[in-house]
Amino acid sequence: MSHDARAGDGKPTKLVIRNIGLLLSGALENPILDADTIVAENGRITGFGKAKDLDTDKATTTIDAKGSAVSPGLIDSHVHPVAGDWTPRQNQLGWIDSNLHGGITTMISAGEVHTPGRPRDIVGLKAHAITSQRMFSAFRPSGVKVHAGAPVIEHGMVEEDFKELAAAGVKLLGEVGLGSVKDGETARQMVAWARKYGIQSTIHTGGPSIPGSGLIDKDVVLAADTDIIGHVNGGHTALPDDQIVCLCEQCHRGLELVHNGNERAALLTLRTAKELNQLERVILGTDAPAGSGVQPLGIIRMIAMLSSLGDVPAEIAFCFATGNTARMRDLDCGLIEVGRAADFVLLDKPQHSAGKDLLHAVQLGDIPGIGMTVIDGIVRTHRSRNTPPSNTMPELFGE
Ligand SMILES: [Zn+2]
Repeated sequence: MSHDARAGDGKPTKLVIRNIGLLLSGALENPILDADTIVAENGRITGFGKAKDLDTDKATTTIDAKGSAVSPGLIDSHVHPVAGDWTPRQNQLGWIDSNLHGGITTMISAGEVHTPGRPRDIVGLKAHAITSQRMFSAFRPSGVKVHAGAPVIEHGMVEEDFKELAAAGVKLLGEVGLGSVKDGETARQMVAWARKYGIQSTIHTGGPSIPGSGLIDKDVVLAADTDIIGHVNGGHTALPDDQIVCLCEQCHRGLELVHNGNERAALLTLRTAKELNQLERVILGTDAPAGSGVQPLGIIRMIAMLSSLGDVPAEIAFCFATGNTARMRDLDCGLIEVGRAADFVLLDKPQHSAGKDLLHAVQLGDIPGIGMTVIDGIVRTHRSRNTPPSNTMPELFGE
């Protein structure tokens, strides 16, 4: 089932994707590139543009996109992994593999909080975070890059703990508020310590997601000042509208919209960010696994929902799940740029869509058909088992 093959088993690789019908860049300022070909060597993008201008010789793998669109691989900014490709939350195996079939090539942990018996003492939570970071960097379920090892802050932690975590390779905090620290003042101090040592932070926003979690309102969010306002549309239960608008207006932190949140609140946040001319703050997550289960198509569904109901061009909505997240999270993927990771999704309008092409179909709210996924220059899936069939079917040659 799941395996962990990676680019870089020693052999040099060269991937050429040709006959691209539409190249989405992931960058808000220039979301569509004038290109029909991408070249990637040893897992990194080395060129893109018109085929005649590129060195496409000696490819080890060639993909004929057959007119499909190519997007940077989608990034889920908010997941709760536990171990490998297993989640105890709904007792499922293979949930990450299912997400790969939804175009997800990178996931970011907001805390490994579903781990049965998760330690809450300080030594234990540090050990758990470091172990999670190690496990997911050593093992990529089906090739998906899972950035994990995200400790949830608890009362009693001191600056030295954050220094120690950072030195051990921890780069993320889990959602503030899922542990004992639920007050703005303590959260602000610990988030500042984390930031000082290069650890990014996020927070649980809204009412409790499940019995045992608590309310985090706008005052706590603003006081804590995390890098990302985690599920600003609520982890199922959203804050009142005026508080959401206030969070958009009174700080410049990331506005994360999740599939497992309140969709009306997601649209309100999007509208407010648009009015503020700050769409670069909008990023997407699923918050899966959760009480709502796992959503293999969660991110692509959010793209279609926000584009169709939020009146945002589809090529912009794709940026929310690619370049925006990559820039905010300091990832080396998510954008079509030379030197970036060769993580791609090949997709098109689904068969029998009323849309005339991919972008039109998404703007009508349809879920695109995914024809292939690529991570670090290696083809990971052919036709998705989870999306509707794509109108065009890419073909693979070589290897
Ligand atoms: Zn949460």
